[in-house]
Amino acid sequence: MTETLTLPTQTDARRAPRIPVAVLGATGSVGQRFVQLLATHPWFRLHEVVASERSSGKSYGEAADWRLDTLLPNDAAALEVKSLGCDLESRLVFSGLDSSVAGEAEDDYANRGCVVVTNSRNHRMDADVPLLIPEVNAEHLEAIEKQRKRRGGKGYIVTNPNCSTIGLALAIAPIERRFGIDQLHVTTMQAISGAGYAGVSSYAILDNVIPYIGGGEEEKIETEPRKILGRWEDGRFIDAPFRISAQVNRVPTIDGHLMTISMKLRSGSADLDEIRDALRSFTGEPQRLGLPTAPKQPIHYAVEPDRPQPRLDRDREHGMAVTVGRLRPCPLFDIRMVALVHNTIRGAAGAALLNAELLEAKGML
Ligand code: NAP
Repeated sequence: MTETLTLPTQTDARRAPRIPVAVLGATGSVGQRFVQLLATHPWFRLHEVVASERSSGKSYGEAADWRLDTLLPNDAAALEVKSLGCDLESRLVFSGLDSSVAGEAEDDYANRGCVVVTNSRNHRMDADVPLLIPEVNAEHLEAIEKQRKRRGGKGYIVTNPNCSTIGLALAIAPIERRFGIDQLHVTTMQAISGAGYAGVSSYAILDNVIPYIGGGEEEKIETEPRKILGRWEDGRFIDAPFRISAQVNRVPTIDGHLMTISMKLRSGSADLDEIRDALRSFTGEPQRLGLPTAPKQPIHYAVEPDRPQPRLDRDREHGMAVTVGRLRPCPLFDIRMVALVHNTIRGAAGAALLNAELLEAKGML
């Protein structure tokens, strides 16, 4: 069961016992990132791994087809993969489950008293579930009280956004806050790791661009930022009022979703230097609290005319910073720019770790 941390600051937490955690979907693309990032995490310790019947009963080393460019940690390799639905010893549960099973399984664990911090889409738009980016909407955690009441217990679910949405919502948050956004058009160029291991065959993607991503990708990018940048008021989420049009493409990069964004501002035109300053100086709760996975500067502005680029910029601040560049006037809307997010770190496992760190720092675990 959960060991408690008395002082949730980065320095003190290193001296405290680490909290045992479980990872659902641990063998997948996002699951492997969890295993990698948890190996050196100062607050959390990988204690249980869960996957499908294909993997359960095997050691993690046997079941996971490890694809990351660091060695599979020995402690993780030795863990026996548990089957979904089994009783867990960990109260904190990270989920990188396939969405075909995530909805029911995450509800089940939350109803049993677990704190489920998930990447899957199933519960993102639920009326009492925070869709969290700690720098942007930490106050949405207030929804948890209502959710706990609905579940009649201590457990609850917190979600992180779609991997492109998180890059988009972070990159536009300072602009929405200072100038207001009226309309936004975004075109994404999304890496193949975003489709999971079985997602796109090399024959389909090499020498190619696929102008379609299934699972409602465009709809997610058009709706999730409005919840994230909206308010929690009188016991419900009120969406931010702007409209979004999204077009998505799968491209043959391995990690890093690049996107071009055009925006019409409610303030009309805005000074570009002021916008750059708003982007660079943007910080939130994770920076204030010194959370271990928090980037020092959540948004980097690249001044070079040909940046950001996935290969060169995705690993800034260990993959937790979003990089923006090419801010310039737009002849149709008011401004346009390019943004890049590491999809399996800031867009998935790293985002979930940061969410859990915020919960711990606020005494909610
Ligand atoms: P993935 O590589 O296909 O991995 C899916 C995981 O779910 C595997 O561990 C798999 O276990 C497990 N699983 C599948 N069917 C199962 C079942 N019937 N019962 C129990 N476990 C089952 O997918 P992924 O790319 O990591 O994505 C995981 C989730 O995160 C998805 O919901 C996705 O939409 C979301 N997400 C992904 C990204 C990204 O960049 N990849 C970013 C944000 C969010 P086995 O290996 O045993 O089959």
